[in-house]
Amino acid sequence: MSKVKKKIKVIKVDLDKCNGCRACEVACAAFHANPKYSSINPARSRIRMVIDPINDEYVPIRAAEYTKSECDGRNVYTINGKEYSECSFCGASCPARDLFKEPDSGLPLRCDMCEDDPAIETPMCVQWCLAEALTYEEYEEEVEEEEEQVKLGEMETSLKSLVDKYGLPKLVDSIARMSQKG
Ligand code: SF4
Ligand code: SF4
Repeated sequence: MSKVKKKIKVIKVDLDKCNGCRACEVACAAFHANPKYSSINPARSRIRMVIDPINDEYVPIRAAEYTKSECDGRNVYTINGKEYSECSFCGASCPARDLFKEPDSGLPLRCDMCEDDPAIETPMCVQWCLAEALTYEEYEEEVEEEEEQVKLGEMETSLKSLVDKYGLPKLVDSIARMSQKG
């Protein structure tokens, strides 16, 4: 089995440094506005804060995979005496809640690590986190070629779920709007 190199991108979160300022949300929303930087709608952000100012706790959550079904069970986390549902810390766009959905179309949002052409060196949320709670790292990893093929297969399955739920015309229209450059 042949190996291929894959670039891994990581955003590390230091919760001890996060002060809940939400600059990461603003930066992400502005970067993903259409045209770029033309508006700041927090609903368009691919990063959301779970905020508990009384206990001075702030947790940035980035948007992850779309899932068409919600979980059957829920875990509950107790942190410093306060209970949080598992959904609080989940990045999935799912039917159980309105988080991480594109405000105009309702289509799911996912962190794309600020992919752009030309590429930017550091994702916007990291650039604007002046408290340095977010840091960005990149490294290369060797993976089996087959593993990459499986990922492509998973991507196709996710796309098919989106088409089934929203219909191809709405999906194509939304992708066309998102890909327009400002
Ligand atoms: S990496 Fe980019 S797309 Fe992802 S949450 Fe940060 S600003 Fe948003
Ligand atoms: S910008 Fe940094 S400090 Fe501010 S809320 Fe986001 S992660 Fe926390």
